[in-house]
Order: sequence, then C-alpha cells, then structure tokens
Amino acid sequence: MFENVFDIDPSASQAELRALVEECERLKCAAAAAQARATALWAMKRQTVEQAAGIRADKRGAGLASEVALARREAPHTGGRYLGFAKALIHEMPHTLAALDCGALSEYRATLIVRESACLSVEHRQSLDAELCADASRLAGWGNRRVEAEAKRIAARLDVTAVVERSAKAEKDRCVTVRPAPNTMVYFTVLLPVAQGVAMYAACKRAADTIFDERSGGQVMADTAYERITGRSAAEPFSIELNLVMADTTLAGDDECPGWLDGYGPVPAGFVRKLTGDAIADAECKASLRRLYRHPQSGRLVAMESRSRTFPKGLATLLRRRDQTCRTPHCDAPIRHHDHAIPESRGGPTSALNGLGMCEACNYTKEAPGWIVRTSDADGGHTAEFRTPTGAVYRSIAPSLPGPPVRRRVSLLEGRLSVDLVTFDAA
Ligand SMILES: [Zn+2]
Repeated sequence: MFENVFDIDPSASQAELRALVEECERLKCAAAAAQARATALWAMKRQTVEQAAGIRADKRGAGLASEVALARREAPHTGGRYLGFAKALIHEMPHTLAALDCGALSEYRATLIVRESACLSVEHRQSLDAELCADASRLAGWGNRRVEAEAKRIAARLDVTAVVERSAKAEKDRCVTVRPAPNTMVYFTVLLPVAQGVAMYAACKRAADTIFDERSGGQVMADTAYERITGRSAAEPFSIELNLVMADTTLAGDDECPGWLDGYGPVPAGFVRKLTGDAIADAECKASLRRLYRHPQSGRLVAMESRSRTFPKGLATLLRRRDQTCRTPHCDAPIRHHDHAIPESRGGPTSALNGLGMCEACNYTKEAPGWIVRTSDADGGHTAEFRTPTGAVYRSIAPSLPGPPVRRRVSLLEGRLSVDLVTFDAA
C-alpha cells in the first residue's frame, strides 16, 4: 500500500529529483500538521463522550495516550508527550501550526517551540507563537538549535519566574538510566542539576589528571566513576547477578548463536562463553543454572526448571525470560509487572499463557475502560493481542530464545553467573 505513491521516473533530471525531495519534505510537514489536528479532535471527542457518560473529570482520557502511541507505532510513553504537543499546537499556537502546515517548520522544530513554551500561561504562549511564527519567512535557514534558542529567549523575556520555576521542577526528574551501546558496551547516564553534573565530571577529570599509568584519560575517568559508585575496583570481575540466556549448543562451542543478557539485549557467542568461563574459574562466585525448554520450530519458551518453591516467583521469571521487555507493541520499557492478560477477577488463570511481562504504565493503561487483552500460544509463538476502545487491534509476539533448533544437552558447573540455558523442548 505504500508503494508507488510517487512514480519516480528513472530518467528524471537531477533538478527534477531535487524538486521531488523538496516536495516530499513539504508533504511530511503537512502530514504532521494534519496528524496533530486529527489527534486533538480525537481527544476532544473522547472527552465529550466520557463527560456524557458521567465519568469523573480526573478519570477522563485514561489510556488515550497509549492509543495515540499505538496508532503512531511509537512507545506508549511518547504518546502522552505527543498528545500534549497536538493539543497545544491546535488550541494555543495557530502560527506554529501554520508554519508546520506550509513546511516552514518540521515536526521536530514545532515540538521544540511547544516544549519551550510549555511553562508559560496561555496568553504568553500565544504571544510567543505570534512573535516567532506569524511571519514564517523568518524561519528560513534556521537549524534546530536556533529555533530552540529563539523560543527560549522569548519565553524567558515574557515570564522569567515561570522559566526559573520550571528549572526547579526539572530537578525532580533527576535519575539514572542505562541503555545499550554497540560492541557489548552501555551508556550509563545520570540526569542531574547542572552544578552537580559539572562537579561529577570535574571529579573524574581530576583523577585523570593525577593518575599516570598505561590507561588513557577517558579510561581513567570511566574507571574512577565505576569505582566511586560501586565501591569496587574496576579490575575486579563483576559481582552482581547477571542474567544470561544462551543455547546449550553455544556454550559447548558447537555454534555461534548470540545469547541474551538481561537489561542489555543480544550479545555475541564469544562474549557469553567468556562470561560463563570467568564465572566457573572464580571460586567465590555463586552461579546458578536453570534449564529453559524451547519449542523446536518457533523457538518460543515452553517450560522452565524452577529453582524456586513458590510457583508465582518461578512463573514471573519465566515471563521475564520469555518477553524480555514490556509486551505492548513498540514499548521497549523493562518489565516491572507480571500481569494477567485476562484479569484474575474475571477468572483469568495464573499461567504462562495468560501471563504477560508489562511495564508499570502499560499495565495501568490496559485496565482503562474499553481495552481488551487476549493471549494465544501456537507454533508461531506466544501472541498478545491488544484491542483498544476504538476497535483497533495490535499484536506482539514474544521473541524466540537464543540458539538453533538442534537437540543437544550439556551440563554446566555451579558458578557465579545466573545462566539460563536454552535447550530443546523435551515434550
Ligand atoms: Zn510498556
């Protein structure tokens, strides 16, 4: 359905192709404006229906942000931000909307203006909108930074108190996050007020300026940060629980199938073998091993040995291994809740089939009126089906476990690492 929206003539001149690239860009901006209009109108209609149904004001619109995200094929947490953007653009910022409509602003640059004006009153926001975008020709040639800086400058002039208060509020959002980087590295990020962040950087830099060994300055800074946060030397091997899922055949060196490291994602076979090798070589470590059973065709997780006596805990682990991240389509958030697709209160069983790994926000969303979640289990894999209040249906299929469909068993020594060894389905 996406093919041949434009017929591109293979003999077109370079100037014609450039014109087509420009036209596509203009259409993307116009589509973004239309999408914002449709979203804001959808929100208004939902509000009207819920008001008529007597739903309390603070309960209205529950789940709508997730519905918007699913329609845009984005993670649910971005749905709320987008909904706010669309409402502000349509109801409070007509000039910014017009600039987006005609292609003078991209969707991203319009988002920057909306974001920078979010702390202002409606009146001030409208002044900023008019001053910045009433004459769209002013925006020609502006990059993202220029757009952001101009919006910031106007906002600070209109209401200095609001801008200062927003900084104070932003401090509440301080947090620590980790996300995968290429080559089995991670980015460890601390979001902090500027003074603390600069102080932390300066402390690491000071270490780099005073320690002279074979390491580079960057390496000393990274090691210093690790040592001061964990209280351990960077040279010491890991001493926390790492959860690794790998095929028994990969451990035996018979194939090079990637493993799965919890909180990171796929890791190369050589890396997982080194990790397990180090764990076995270290006498102090407490490793444990558990066998997972994989369906031969689909690769789905069918069963798991449980080390735990309490069934729910074993089941929770099975869901975490099977689903890896939140099961809402496009949501990559870590699993926080082990949820019943059909709620227990409506007779949903506590089982792997009816169980879903979910993030906290998505778990609450699916409890909103009009949402129905069902699961099914076939050779194609464990499928979760999400039906939203407007009748849209979205599916997510649990990922396959690591390894090839080859029957082979190995046993592993008790060591320090928690390894979930994937083996062929015994059933
Ligand atoms: Zn989620």
